[in-house]
Amino acid sequence: MRTLRDLKPEDLRLRFTPAVVEVFKDVYGEKWVEALMALMTPARRFFLRVNTLKASVEDVLKSLDSRGLRFRQHRLIEEAIYMEVERAGHLPIPEKTVMVDRWAAETVLQGANLYVPGIIRYPKDLEAGDTVGVVDPYGLLVGVGVSMVSAEQLKRLKKGLAVKITHSWFKLPSTADLPERAQGLVYPQSLPSIVTVRVLDPQPGETIVDMCAAPGGKLTHIAMLTKGRGTVYGFDKSSRKVGRMRELLRLMGIRNVRVGRMDSRYIDLEMPGLEADRVLIDPPCSALGVRPKLGSELGEDELDNFPRYQRQFLKPASKILKKGGVLVFSVCTITRREIEGILEYAVENLPFEPAEHPVFIGSEGLGRMGRYVQRFHPHIHDTPGFGIVLLRKI
Ligand code: SAM
Repeated sequence: MRTLRDLKPEDLRLRFTPAVVEVFKDVYGEKWVEALMALMTPARRFFLRVNTLKASVEDVLKSLDSRGLRFRQHRLIEEAIYMEVERAGHLPIPEKTVMVDRWAAETVLQGANLYVPGIIRYPKDLEAGDTVGVVDPYGLLVGVGVSMVSAEQLKRLKKGLAVKITHSWFKLPSTADLPERAQGLVYPQSLPSIVTVRVLDPQPGETIVDMCAAPGGKLTHIAMLTKGRGTVYGFDKSSRKVGRMRELLRLMGIRNVRVGRMDSRYIDLEMPGLEADRVLIDPPCSALGVRPKLGSELGEDELDNFPRYQRQFLKPASKILKKGGVLVFSVCTITRREIEGILEYAVENLPFEPAEHPVFIGSEGLGRMGRYVQRFHPHIHDTPGFGIVLLRKI
């Protein structure tokens, strides 16, 4: 069994495919180890966005504070509040361990309880009430807790709580348990996601389209910044997710947003008369900036497919935008192909020019058009890895 302190750079080559390691070397040079090590832990700050349509930042801070949750307002983005994530110096090392898949390990690492479907292996003599260590497939201890089930029960169970976690390396607040979340007063979002909508800079009265909108984090932020005036459209290709977005809009008290199921790669054909002031494309991506990430199986082909798919949103976006209209493209990853590659493709093939970001708190991107790209680096900004591109239709 190993702890977070024992992790060595060699471990990274086991956990991440050669294709992913190459991506990190391409972007970070000799700092690739530092960047990947940072990716394996959650960011130090946990962010929420306050829904100022329903409550003031001060009232939300007071309400959280009354329950001992010490959030602070970001110094530049007023609707962004954060708290420092608790970190453990060490974990007790129990005799019995349960092995879990990578996804379960990533949630336990952050303090979440372990559920039955995540378990890969358990000791034959496991009893309910035993103290157990939870390890990932490479033997990394991610948390310690009390087993709720015995080995006998695990043979039959398909779901349910398996281990109640008492110790973990990190302790993030459970957003599902926050009353402010249930009341629609806050939405959990990373800092770069919040910055993305600030770069889009929605204004009251405008027509704005979010082409890949679910689950609705950026969409509800856009609506908030339009102060309920103007028309905002949010489309997603999953009807299940669109249904959930409708619930979120109701919860957050938002009325000027229309959502619908659509393959937005054909939005210009589906809505031929649409003339937008601003468009957001926040498409599926390789997610190599999402933290904590304890490994990745992505190969060269998959890394190629993401930018190929993402490029298909650009032309329809150019068709629905007014002349002078603004397009923001954002991804929670770090690959050059999905950030600078997209900017270059748009400028070279479509009626777009790159534009300066109205809010810039990350770092410049790579290459000759880097100043039109805002990147967030896990080991430098201590955020998820993220890229934002701003284009203007000419
Ligand atoms: N913008 C969202 C937010 O901030 O909450 C996150 C968007 S998520 C990264 C990407 C979304 O794109 C997924 O919900 C997925 O269903 C949707 N999607 C994928 N392909 C699509 C397509 N062709 N048209 C519309 N939506 C698509």
